[in-house]
Amino acid sequence: MSAPDVAVVGAGPNGLAAALTLARAGLRVEVFEGAPDAGGGCRTAELTLPGFAHDVCSTVHALAAASPFFAGSDLAARGVRLLAPKVAAAHPLDGGRAGAISGSVAETAARLGGQDARAYARLMGPLVRDSEPILAMTLAPLRSRPDRLLPAARFGAEGLLPATVLARRLHTPEARALLAGMAGHSLRPLSAPLTGAFGLTMLLLAHTTGWPVIEGGSGRLIAAMTAELAELGGTVTTGTWIERLSDLPPARAVVLDVTPRQLLALAGDRLPAGYRRAMRRFRYGPGVCKVDWALDGPVPWQSEACRETVTVHLGGTIGEVARSEAAVAAGRLPEQPFCLITQPCVVDPGRAPAGKHVLWGYCHVPPGSDADMTDRIEAQIERFAPGFRDLVLARSVKTAADMERYNPSYIGGDIAAGAGTLRQTIGRPTLRWNPYRTPLPGVYLCSGSTPPGGGVHGMCGLWAARTAMQDLQLAA
Ligand SMILES: Cc1cc2nc3c(=O)[nH]c(=O)nc-3n(C[C@H](O)[C@H](O)[C@H](O)COP(=O)(O)OP(=O)(O)OC[C@H]3O[C@@H](n4cnc5c(N)ncnc54)[C@H](O)[C@@H]3O)c2cc1C
Repeated sequence: MSAPDVAVVGAGPNGLAAALTLARAGLRVEVFEGAPDAGGGCRTAELTLPGFAHDVCSTVHALAAASPFFAGSDLAARGVRLLAPKVAAAHPLDGGRAGAISGSVAETAARLGGQDARAYARLMGPLVRDSEPILAMTLAPLRSRPDRLLPAARFGAEGLLPATVLARRLHTPEARALLAGMAGHSLRPLSAPLTGAFGLTMLLLAHTTGWPVIEGGSGRLIAAMTAELAELGGTVTTGTWIERLSDLPPARAVVLDVTPRQLLALAGDRLPAGYRRAMRRFRYGPGVCKVDWALDGPVPWQSEACRETVTVHLGGTIGEVARSEAAVAAGRLPEQPFCLITQPCVVDPGRAPAGKHVLWGYCHVPPGSDADMTDRIEAQIERFAPGFRDLVLARSVKTAADMERYNPSYIGGDIAAGAGTLRQTIGRPTLRWNPYRTPLPGVYLCSGSTPPGGGVHGMCGLWAARTAMQDLQLAA
């Protein structure tokens, strides 16, 4: 077979998005993946018992649903169906109460009630009205000029605030807890700048996409991507770890779905000293400890909203969530961890035998921790769903250290490919006009360590591929 035009390292969502973009432009693309299967953080497997299909990593595809890259792929024609729950996300509190996002801003605000009927609408109404330019901006590199300046400026000003400060605009414990849970996706202490932006973006996605899952499991998205790549003449070679750039066949462009630490190992001394220093300065976030359960039935949540959603944020009030995240940032295991839970069978019962359910939950832990947090995560579920433990048929646990063994791009168990600090939002992985281009001619980065960061949206891959196409003087 002739040498490829482009070699891609890593068949995660971003590596495949880059591969597809370049293959659609007529280039011959070869993808090299170290693991036995393509998919990176987007795989589905029987982790517990036969017949129980668990998403090994991502489950909720709000970012994919909002992504211009996936909007340009006819996923429905390839059998990818998004299923959105009645309630986009819920956050239970003690006593059977819960904050929940369902339907429009007005409906959610009315459900929150009290002073928040107006305060929530004031906070979210303008953002949802301008969701298109705001989401386009959050899914693009910072240098892109927003389509509309006013909504972008408003979002930027509010988003810069720490979630704990932004939450002062809300009044009920339910509304504040909702914002805290959303901001918790940042993997940062809630008192850090920009955690407001994470919270607002997650809320915006909840109102616009409904936080859907993929029927049958996230692996179907990858199957659709690899099928299109094959039709375009591209190949994915699995079970092949690339140790050095010199392991790759000669190609006009090399696109790397890896983080800065891996780039340093791959390129070694070929990178200029200044860029090597910048890559060494790149900071990773905390790790996660994840548990998958096979259950004998649905989780017996006290709150109805939790029974009607896929995504449940657990951890109590904003104060409790903030304490949990602050402990992790200080290098300690949280006693009562903030947990992210998904229960896809609420909308996709086919993932488990009749009447049974799959469930996953994770909490943040210090980087590289080998602590098994199962007991503490299950205690949080029991707190809001008494009787949960009686339903457990089997469980599978991955500590943060296991996470990195599973996928070397999860450094220390960091699932976001780098901390979402202010510095690393302005320059990700470092301050450069085009962050996808490395100083090595023809070598590009396309992982979540580039803008717009972690998540299954394929946008890092799309922007990196466009940069390569510009350099190859192809229409991008
Ligand atoms: C538990 C968990 C839950 C998550 N939940 C969600 C969610 O609900 N929604 C969401 O949008 N996101 C979620 N994410 C995040 C999401 O999975 C990642 O942000 C996303 O997969 C990043 O895509 P990527 O292509 O940049 O990298 P990855 O998906 O990490 O893929 C990188 C690939 O490169 C391969 N690779 C690395 N180095 C080499 C090498 N040297 N040679 C060959 N191959 C190599 C790896 O094996 C891997 O397959 C979750 C992640 C985890 C772990």
